Amino acid sequence: MANDLLSVEHVRRTFPRGGGEELLVLDDVNLTLKEGEIVGLLGRSGSGKSTLLRLIAGLSRPQGGSLSYLGAPIEGPVQGVSMVFQGFALFPWLTVLENVQLGLEALNLPPRVMRERALAAIDLIGLDGYESAYPRELSGGMRQRVGFARAVVVHPNILLMDEPFSALDVLTAENLRTDLVELWGNGKLPIKGIILVTHNIEEAVLMCDRVLLFSSNPGRVASEIKIDLPQPRDRTTAQFEQYVDQIYVEMTARRVERLRQQQATSTTGTDMPLTHVSPSQISGLVEALSALADGKADLPDIAYDQELEVDELFPVAEAMQLLRLADVEGGDIKLTHMGKRFADGELNERKEIFSRALVNHVPLAAHIKKVLDERASHSAPKTRFLDELEDHMAEDTAEETLKTVVSWARFAELFSYDDDTAAFSLENPT
Ligand code: ADP
Ligand code: MG
Repeated sequence: MANDLLSVEHVRRTFPRGGGEELLVLDDVNLTLKEGEIVGLLGRSGSGKSTLLRLIAGLSRPQGGSLSYLGAPIEGPVQGVSMVFQGFALFPWLTVLENVQLGLEALNLPPRVMRERALAAIDLIGLDGYESAYPRELSGGMRQRVGFARAVVVHPNILLMDEPFSALDVLTAENLRTDLVELWGNGKLPIKGIILVTHNIEEAVLMCDRVLLFSSNPGRVASEIKIDLPQPRDRTTAQFEQYVDQIYVEMTARRVERLRQQQATSTTGTDMPLTHVSPSQISGLVEALSALADGKADLPDIAYDQELEVDELFPVAEAMQLLRLADVEGGDIKLTHMGKRFADGELNERKEIFSRALVNHVPLAAHIKKVLDERASHSAPKTRFLDELEDHMAEDTAEETLKTVVSWARFAELFSYDDDTAAFSLENPT
């Protein structure tokens, strides 16, 4: 619609891969940003969030669909859109003032106006007194403030933030979030709308008016949750927790359903990416759960107890679901009978349970084992499996998937992998 700051319709983005193939990163992405809104994009790493921000900023072009800014198609870098990055991207040889002024370069303002605008932004963002400091003299939090000031100084209509708090320590991040929400609420920021990319559920609930849940492979907006709480928000209220829970439930339900489907239909597992999770991370969570009544916990609670972020907890929970050591249902995770036996078992029994789980429930592990069993040499080069995986996924995802299955199989003593020879072999050929 014409009064939208931003509209993204049916956007599709692929990247070229080896062999003339394409990696589909974003497919049929739709979103709008209206004046006065903070919209959150919540999804795990690799789901295409940064790719989408680059498209919105006009720094890259989609292969399909369209993007428009104030009703006009986006066809190149957009003047009214600024970006704040996770890494601070400051120039070390420039002072704070010079770094901030850099944001204004493209506007061709008289030097005096540039200086005034930069000083105002520095003041606004809480950097007063640091004008002539160099980035190396600043803490991480202060550096990120420079990043904000540089983005805000151009008075953009839209501010894009790409995980802007994730490189900061907990307290610093929280201070910066609070300051930002306050400035926004007071109408002091010369900005009309914000898109915040994050993989932190609580951060999204704390700051956003709407949260778009982003799915992976390919990335698309899977659902939208409106956060109907007044600002400033209090993390400790029941309503706040309800939103966090609701998002947990939606994110896990979708992903676990997909995992189950893949597990049921995949024959060789070469079309099933695995996120790297070590056997000790799995054992850790199994043990934490077995200490609880019924071997069961609320996902947000156990994440909090274990000091894990969503990006860290989900892959472990998913691996446990995949191995049938736990059931993930709604917002809960519960040990299975096998999971409880694993928790109670000695190391050898744990290895046996793990080995059986790999053969029975992880198609890729079963596939590799079968190939090794069938070969007279009981060995096979890494490329044998990597090529198969790369038919279905990006190179780095294929590497990670293989690395994951190797670490699981090593623990289970199902088969082994030698880095020097880049070859798989049976641990105990029979
Ligand atoms: P996120 O920000 O959600 O972590 P990204 O947008 O950075 O995800 O990346 C999504 C996927 O697109 C990844 O698999 C990444 O490897 C791939 N990708 C991103 N940029 C490029 C590029 N310029 N060339 C090839 N692949 C890319
Ligand atoms: Mg990113």
